[in-house]
Amino acid sequence: MTNFSIDTHLSPIKKEKPNWGELEFGKVFTDHMFIMDYKEGKGWHDARIVPYQPITLDPAAMIFHYGQTVFEGLKAYLAKDGRILLFRPEKNMQRLNRSNDRLCIPPIDEDLALDALKQLIAVDKEWVPTVEGTSLYIRPFIIATEPYLGVSASASYRFMIILSPVGSYYKEGIHPVKILVENEYVRAVSGGTGEAKTAGNYAASLKAQETADQKEYSQVLWLDGVEKKYIEEVGSMNIFFKINDEIITPALNGSILPGVTRDSIIALLKYWNIPVSERRISIDEVMDAYRDGQLQEAFGTGTAAVISPIGELLWNNEKMIVNGGKTGELSKKLYDTLTGIQKGDLEDPFGWVTEIK
Ligand SMILES: *Cc1c(COP(=O)(O)O)cnc(C)c1O
Repeated sequence: MTNFSIDTHLSPIKKEKPNWGELEFGKVFTDHMFIMDYKEGKGWHDARIVPYQPITLDPAAMIFHYGQTVFEGLKAYLAKDGRILLFRPEKNMQRLNRSNDRLCIPPIDEDLALDALKQLIAVDKEWVPTVEGTSLYIRPFIIATEPYLGVSASASYRFMIILSPVGSYYKEGIHPVKILVENEYVRAVSGGTGEAKTAGNYAASLKAQETADQKEYSQVLWLDGVEKKYIEEVGSMNIFFKINDEIITPALNGSILPGVTRDSIIALLKYWNIPVSERRISIDEVMDAYRDGQLQEAFGTGTAAVISPIGELLWNNEKMIVNGGKTGELSKKLYDTLTGIQKGDLEDPFGWVTEIK
């Protein structure tokens, strides 16, 4: 590990730790945060770890008006032997730079960012929760800070990393959710920003989620933005189907976010010699498979839940009950294997896990 010089100003006060058994998602933050600034002509500079605190921005800062911003999400896990483990963090830094490129934000040095992330976690290591199923969620993000109301790329930026201890996604064990197929709104279109982790995509998704909430469905299934026919993602997760023993996930088409979990699932399936296809799949194909009794499993994948089995899909008032509404065998096996590797309980044949020292 290269050691970049990162100024560290330790917090004079240590906040009281919450009860690790009662953690929710993203509500509690640790004692420190990482900041690095960018100025045109000067580049990225002043990398520093400072006490967690509010920041001051000009009301005209471009982030507030035109949403020039990107983010990442990953987790640190405490292994049974006390090691703190990261799962494929270099993938997140690579994706951050791909998002940067799409949003006209200057690239960051991926090694420096990864080193900063590790140093920050080392400083706040007492905040990696110790209860089974919990983890330390890591949120790197970049915002445009230039005070200017013209629509253009900002001349200055701030890169930050904040940390939040989070509870187990499944407090009562992995269980299937009900999904509403969204026919009206779309998440992203080819040529748009769907491939980038950028705030606007999530703001655009809230309206559909509101309807799903009202109907007591947990998430929406997004169809493509042109024909509203091909399956894209589920909520803010990638999606997989098991149909007639073939595992299918929509091919990365420019509007789908390329998940690290998605990539890891594909690698695991190939390692197990289970046929997996990345291809276009329409909602009609899924419905036909359901009617023929061939729709065996469906699940979402992402850092937060790892695997989220789908028990029901509602499309145009027609319900597809998947695997009797129960977690499928493959979904469970993938969940156990991936979380086992992430927590250091299982062998890591791919070299995915990195220890923080
Ligand atoms: C982050 C995200 C995912 C999942 O990515 P992971 O790297 O697996 O966490 C999938 N879809 C969307 C829209 C996302 O924002």
